[in-house]
Amino acid sequence: MKLPDLDYCAPASLEEVVALLSANADAKIISGGQSLMPVLAFRLNAPSVLVDLGRLQGLDRIEIGADHVRLGARVRWIDIERHPALRTAQPLLVAMIDHVAHTQVRNRGTVGGSLAHADPASEMPGFARLVDAVIEVFGESGPRELSAEDFFLGPLETVLEPTDVLTGVRLPAWPAGRRWGFQEVARRRGDFAMAGVAVCFDDGTDGAVHDMRAVAIGAGSTPVRLSGVEAFLEGRVLTAELAEAAGATAGQEVSPMVEDAGEADYRRALVMTLTARTLKQAAGLEQE
Ligand SMILES: Cc1cc2nc3c(=O)[nH]c(=O)nc-3n(C[C@H](O)[C@H](O)[C@H](O)COP(=O)(O)OP(=O)(O)OC[C@H]3O[C@@H](n4cnc5c(N)ncnc54)[C@H](O)[C@@H]3O)c2cc1C
Repeated sequence: MKLPDLDYCAPASLEEVVALLSANADAKIISGGQSLMPVLAFRLNAPSVLVDLGRLQGLDRIEIGADHVRLGARVRWIDIERHPALRTAQPLLVAMIDHVAHTQVRNRGTVGGSLAHADPASEMPGFARLVDAVIEVFGESGPRELSAEDFFLGPLETVLEPTDVLTGVRLPAWPAGRRWGFQEVARRRGDFAMAGVAVCFDDGTDGAVHDMRAVAIGAGSTPVRLSGVEAFLEGRVLTAELAEAAGATAGQEVSPMVEDAGEADYRRALVMTLTARTLKQAAGLEQE
């Protein structure tokens, strides 16, 4: 279907973007357009104005600092994939983003678009929740910061105001030697995950798991931090048996948002299996 009639603006400053959004209540930001264009084509939304972020300087920057990595909102999946240092600086991020979509979408889709779109099956929101990322926003009262924990409200719903521009995301530096695992199941490679699980933890000198973190995607209305799994494993020496038991715990923490009860059960079972597998992957335990 053809797009609805609309005006197109490509402002050169954040202040102009916010002014346009304030003046046009039904205006929409467009970044990579990979989620928005299908929405417009299906007439699920009919904004009067599209505000393109493409002329804003600096939003496509990747900065690797001593205590954090900052991704500008217009950093694309392909930029993450090809960055020479990110694979070392944020190995789990790169592994998760490797699963996002197909080449055409990866050439345009952006970090900011994915966070703002807030699809619960998306990898970037899941990673942001896992590492407690800080989301940077510019709105009517200037810049402010939001925690990833508070950011996602539901499927395609965030705390962003209609006049807010997401400008970037800060990820805490990845500690040397941190262990991680990520696995997802999609119908075809590059499709949205039916479910996925990411885990990470640090090795203590006692051989036990420390700062245990786990998140599930495609398994709730937002990315789901598996806090029961985290509490269950924190301070324990990870074994294959414990990984399996943690998988069972994960199954109790998710409520897949699908109408078909059978598919919801299937996705819950996926989360259980993937939790056990990613834990074994992270710990270097033999996979069955
Ligand atoms: C075939 C296909 C397969 C896909 N598979 C996956 C997948 O496996 N995993 C995955 O994570 N994603 C997948 N996607 C989605 C893709 O990653 C999108 O690119 C991404 O979710 C949105 O990014 P975008 O830059 O295209 O945003 P856009 O489409 O431009 O915008 C999306 C929404 O966010 C808003 N927005 C965008 N940028 C900002 C900003 N800076 N501030 C405030 N609001 C903003 C827009 O107004 C819009 O509502 C797929 C898409 C397609 C078409």
